[in-house]
This record gives sequence, structure tokens and C-alpha cells, in this order.
Amino acid sequence: MPEIRYGEAVAVSPRVRRVTAPNSGRMTGPGTNTYLIGERELAMVDPGPNMPEHVDALERICAGRLRWILVTHTHRDHSPAAHALARRTGAQLVGNIIPNDGFQDDTFIDARALVQDEVLSTDEFTLRALLTPGHVSNHICFLVEEDALLMTGDHIMGGSTVVIVPPHGNMQHYIESLRRMLNYRVEHLAPGHGDLIANPRGEIEHLIAHRLKREAKVADALQRLGAVTIETLTPVVYDDVDPVMHSWAAMSLHAHLLKLRDDGRASEQDGLWRMLT
Ligand SMILES: [Zn+2]
Repeated sequence: MPEIRYGEAVAVSPRVRRVTAPNSGRMTGPGTNTYLIGERELAMVDPGPNMPEHVDALERICAGRLRWILVTHTHRDHSPAAHALARRTGAQLVGNIIPNDGFQDDTFIDARALVQDEVLSTDEFTLRALLTPGHVSNHICFLVEEDALLMTGDHIMGGSTVVIVPPHGNMQHYIESLRRMLNYRVEHLAPGHGDLIANPRGEIEHLIAHRLKREAKVADALQRLGAVTIETLTPVVYDDVDPVMHSWAAMSLHAHLLKLRDDGRASEQDGLWRMLT
């Protein structure tokens, strides 16, 4: 994304446009992407933060045609503009709600829930919900079937590794969700942050391999160090990651350790983790 003009719609496929919110930052990249699907009747995916300039731009671009406001998940950079837009446009809120663990947007309420492979359609597009728990348990990706374009929210981000925060985040589920995506015809990934990603199959396989490689590094380090805390383990396992990101890396490490425990390979007692095999 070389140049971003906030508040303007950019076409990313025949049926889909992107409006980037002006909330750039370390965790949000160039800003949260809001996607608009259709022409005569619109679906919106991830309204983004409740920033007046972003909400005004979306209302202006939708111009009375907005039917659905969908969210990939309820983290605070993805859903808080939903209620303001619903109030102004009368559009229906769609997305799954989970208990607040301190990271969820409490203002996202009264939404229609979705199940796996549920479809919303107009005479212009077919939008399929793929439930993708992992980054967080209520995560949904949305596939515009006619354009083979998959909006991936925070399940797959451009250029950075997705943080998995237990207990709503789950590494086993994350990897399984990635594998399930390979069953669909997808030609482009449209992430919640960053530009379109080509070669979806290659990208997804790379992400799975990356997580399994990290898991192997965790297992190796545990084997070598004996019983250790997450604090001790983090700089060892993430020696290739900027230390400024280590507090986030520690959460993903916790997710890796829980997967190793669930796989019967590691155990934890009083905050000390060890390998069983
Ligand atoms: Zn998120």
C-alpha cells in the first residue's frame, strides 16, 4: 500500500472497494481496512474504529444503500463504528459476540449471528461466512464468491504475524482454520490491515509452516532448558523478533505452549513449563 488516501474508496476487485481508517499504528499497520461489497445494495465488512472522519466517509460513500454491517471479530480496531453506522443507516449488524476478556468492543450488540458457510446474497454478490477461530474465537472471514476474494480480518494480515491471545485465541484452532481455507476457491486475500495478498494457497501454506516451525522451536527450547517460565522462554524462542514486540510474542508463546499441552507433549505447574517427551 504505497499511498493511502484516507476517506476514499479504492476498488480491489470488480465487486469490492476498500476504505482505510486513519488509525495507523504498530498493531494496525496503515489503518483498519473497511470493505464495501456491491453497488446497488451494499454489505460492509469491518466498519473499523468509531472515528468521526471515517464514519462520515463511510456514510457518504454508502449513500443510503447499506444493508448489512458485518464484523470479522470484535476487537476494538474492527467493530466500534458499527453501532453509529447502524443508527445512521438502518443497516443490520451481523457478527458473533463473545464474553469480554478485556480486548472486546462492548458496544457491538444486537447482531445477527452467523454459522459456518452461511451465505448473504443480493443479485450482485454471494458473501459466504467462513468461521475461523484462532486469533480470537469469534473470528469470521468473508468470501465474495464471484470475485474469489476472501476478506481475512486479523486471521491473515499483510506483512506481520497474527497475535494469538489465550483463552479466546487458540493456536490449534488457528492452524485448523488456515487448513480449512484451502477448501475454497480463493484468488486474493483482502486483510484487515495492509494491501491485497496474491497467491493465497502459497501464503496459507507458508503461515501454517511458520507456526509449526515456531512450535518446534518452543519444544526444542523447553527440552534444552527444563522447567521454565514464559518470561524466560520468550526471548529465546523469539530471538528473531524485535524485543519491543516481546510482550505480544509472550501471548502467542502461551498459545503455543497450550497447544503442546493439549497435544500431550508439555505440562505446566506453578507457571513453570516443561516437556513430557
Ligand atoms: Zn484482532
